[in-house]
Amino acid sequence: MSNGFVELDRQGIPKEQLLAQMRSLQAQDANWKGGKTWSLVYYGGEEITDLLEEAYLTYFHGNALNPLAFPSLRKFENEVTAMTAALLGGGAEACGSLTSGGTESVLMGVKTARDLARAKQPHITAPEMIVPISVHPAFLKAAHYLGVKAVRIPVGSDFRVNLAAVREAVNENTILIVGSAPAYPQGVIDPIKELAALAQEKGISCHVDACLGGFMLPFIEKLGYPVPPFDFRAPGVTSISADIHKYGFAAKGASVIVYRNKEIRRHQYFALADWPGGLFGSPTMTGTRPGGAIAAAWAILKFLGEEGYLKLAQATMDNTRALMDGINAIEGLQILGQPEMSVFAFGSDSLDMNLVGDAMEGLGWHMDLQQKPSCLHLMVTPAHTSVVEQFINDLRESVNLVKKGEVAPSGLAAMYGMIRDVPTEDAENFILDFFNDLYTVS
Ligand SMILES: *Cc1c(COP(=O)(O)O)cnc(C)c1O
Repeated sequence: MSNGFVELDRQGIPKEQLLAQMRSLQAQDANWKGGKTWSLVYYGGEEITDLLEEAYLTYFHGNALNPLAFPSLRKFENEVTAMTAALLGGGAEACGSLTSGGTESVLMGVKTARDLARAKQPHITAPEMIVPISVHPAFLKAAHYLGVKAVRIPVGSDFRVNLAAVREAVNENTILIVGSAPAYPQGVIDPIKELAALAQEKGISCHVDACLGGFMLPFIEKLGYPVPPFDFRAPGVTSISADIHKYGFAAKGASVIVYRNKEIRRHQYFALADWPGGLFGSPTMTGTRPGGAIAAAWAILKFLGEEGYLKLAQATMDNTRALMDGINAIEGLQILGQPEMSVFAFGSDSLDMNLVGDAMEGLGWHMDLQQKPSCLHLMVTPAHTSVVEQFINDLRESVNLVKKGEVAPSGLAAMYGMIRDVPTEDAENFILDFFNDLYTVS
């Protein structure tokens, strides 16, 4: 593919014409409002969406880069972080930062663990962190960016990390142990209490990735669902990431990284005293920080309160139960592992799940295909209430079509369920080339 070449138009386009063009382009995007997607957008209903948009626009121009110029944004940020810390069992000492998303929270968690170790164990020159194979790629990205070696540990038949293998992998260079609550692929929670105890025994950090579960597990626990200890109540947990723009139903661009205390958080911060532009300090990775996302995050927490979140969590769990029961009742399909929450995958011993996914796509669903093992992934929200029945009916029909050999393979790959015909050899180079083409004007 040749390199696209687009220049700035000589003359501007009139506003109405431009907005019309944008709306027609947007019409081709994923239809998340209709409940046909199972990832990417967490839709809590019109009332919530309206509030988010208004709060966001009210602070559209705000910039949290300078915490002294926008005291209102600092108040929002501090309160959002404090509310999140309290939800996650943090004591009076707990503190954190608001970030642009789960990836930034994870990058900060790894960076802080690395720099804490640099201060306390300066003999470690080649730091390593232990992560389950199921951990979010953000940790591998953190390893890639931050010069920390990621040691990936297999999961057991229950899809939780193998504890004995974690213990085995700890060595004199280990600075951090990571567990997920829950992990994205099968939605199961790693044995956090045991991982954290091991980290404590070794005097190293333990990060819990609750990007998915941070705004769901505390509420379903209150609703009476069994939730294993996954937060600061587990001794040894030093940091937790929790995305408000997932099950917190905030506008995109809001996540929290929480630390057990300020002594740890200090290692996250960056300071520069001799810059000609003046004294400089920055808590997280980003410089300019859009006020809208921060304001919307504060607004949704205040608007919903515990009662609002409990209601959304109940609706989400009801949808999850109905979907799981429906899937388990279809011969040939089964739920993988025992997911505690509302994120899960289903696979088959007898059917080609790629084909099942293809058939569902043919019926208008946007499906997320996974690998190792091959399965389809669902992240359930209250927006799915109206489609549960249709989904199960369509899934039953899809399975029948696959059994009858009536589905033509599309070659769909397990990459955002969107790309096709990926080679099995050297797939990483394929992805790099694919991205080089994808991010080119066509
Ligand atoms: C989504 C997710 C992340 C990354 O969050 P982004 O907001 O997409 O950057 C990290 N961990 C888990 C478990 C996630 O589901």
